[in-house]
Amino acid sequence: METKHWVVDNSGIIHQQYPQIKEAAALIQQGEVVAFPTETVYGLGAQVKRDSAVEKIFQAKGRPSDNPLIVHIADRTHVDELARLIPPYAQLLINAFWPGPLTIVVPKKEGAVSERVTAGLDTVAVRMPDHPAALALIKEAGVPVAAPSANRSGKPSPTTAEHVLDDLNGRIAGIVDAGETGVGLESTVVDCTGDYPVILRPGGITQADIEAVAGHADTNTALKKAEEAPKAPGMKYTHYAPEAPLYIMEGTSAAIQKKIDEWRAEGKKVGVLAAEESAASYKADTVIECGRRSDLASVARELYSALRLFNEQPVDMIISEAFPAEGVGAAIMNRLEKAAGHKWIKMR
Ligand code: AMP
Ligand code: MG
Repeated sequence: METKHWVVDNSGIIHQQYPQIKEAAALIQQGEVVAFPTETVYGLGAQVKRDSAVEKIFQAKGRPSDNPLIVHIADRTHVDELARLIPPYAQLLINAFWPGPLTIVVPKKEGAVSERVTAGLDTVAVRMPDHPAALALIKEAGVPVAAPSANRSGKPSPTTAEHVLDDLNGRIAGIVDAGETGVGLESTVVDCTGDYPVILRPGGITQADIEAVAGHADTNTALKKAEEAPKAPGMKYTHYAPEAPLYIMEGTSAAIQKKIDEWRAEGKKVGVLAAEESAASYKADTVIECGRRSDLASVARELYSALRLFNEQPVDMIISEAFPAEGVGAAIMNRLEKAAGHKWIKMR
């Protein structure tokens, strides 16, 4: 299949770029899958009601079929067509954070979406993205759009159109290319089926942000304890992983350097993932920077791109600095731990 590539300019999206958006939306209406930018990462979209269209997402990505998709809407009120019930605190979250990187999981309305979207669950995950191209595309398609991240399953989520094409060129009908995404990590997923919000996947909107609006919030215990089954099915899979094994190490640059030296003495080629502040201090085969420690949002933005870069380097082992798991750091460490398969190197 030839993958169409529409380059759009965020600033004039509705007027100047309308033909490209129209063409992309028409393909979605025909039951094809199209990649598009959001403020978090690139998504791979299909109309929500048609089984065969949704099935194409799973096929293109190689995604396990028990991992449900997030439904994207272009108007806050459209959540009513998908949800059977929206608790008052969830409505507060919608008012505060939509459009934006917050996904709510709510009881689903029967028949509102294909069973393939919800993977047989009784709930549906919904969000309204904050990106002019995404909103224009969904509006033009005239239907909610189910969209996971537009990467091959297991790979880091795509933050540029090049990442999407590296993974999915020839496997999808097209891609709307608006350059780099903003947040760089996927949305915060919040379970809104109980008495208060419970974070199933940390993201750019933090627990403190949610507490400030809803009064109280918690984080799913499975995110705190590795042995418990996660409530967001996707959280159990290895994700975001570069090809070489990745280890996270807490500690000083000197301690990390000592580990690098040990591996290199064994003849291994070693890559390092480090913040800009410390990157220059390492002596290794490859050092890749991922934002500034003093500005964790920049680490979130650059993390996936940095992880992908290791696949272009001849490295046998990768060692990453750890980041404080607070605020957006909680999302950074969640993704980094998954990329590392929870492999830590403890200081001796
Ligand atoms: P992705 O679209 O690739 O960012 O992944 C979507 C995430 O949302 C995955 O971790 C899913 O397991 C999770 N998710 C989607 N729908 C639901 C739902 N109904 N209940 C719980 N988690 C969900
Ligand atoms: Mg994903």
